[in-house]
Amino acid sequence: MSGPVPVSAEERFWSHVVKGPAPVDCWIWTGAVGDDGYGRFWVPQDAGGQRAMRPQRWLYEHLTGIALHPTVLLLHACDVPLCVHVDVDQALSHLAPGAHRGNMLERVQRGRHRNASTALRFAGLPRSERVRLSRELREAFRDHGWDATAVRACRTGIAADTTTLW
Ligand SMILES: [Zn+2]
Repeated sequence: MSGPVPVSAEERFWSHVVKGPAPVDCWIWTGAVGDDGYGRFWVPQDAGGQRAMRPQRWLYEHLTGIALHPTVLLLHACDVPLCVHVDVDQALSHLAPGAHRGNMLERVQRGRHRNASTALRFAGLPRSERVRLSRELREAFRDHGWDATAVRACRTGIAADTTTLW
């Protein structure tokens, strides 16, 4: 048999992710981005056809083996919609199911998951600005990797009081 080797969903997934250099950094999705500013990952279905999922949701289910109920949200502690930094260890994960919102908010308030390398902040931005910023970031990370200069060029939409760490 010859021809291209089929690419697994996992390989496709990681081909669209740029990880920050530090263990606490965000992992930025650089694939498709929807009208809500969140990523889209197309996953083949057992019954045929494909379904678009939020990539962080796909990774959560892939790593934990837990199928999230459609009504359960995955919440970002880091407040970066394109971040897919899921870890089975809740102390390290930037995402957790909605039931844990109290814990996540507490962590955000302690600054634990404020993205140390980018100081990105989406909170308080109107939806249209969040979507625009998501798309700019997606393109910057996709084209330049984890490049401080490229990302800084996108930071016009970020709250003025955000501390610049790089
Ligand atoms: Zn993150």
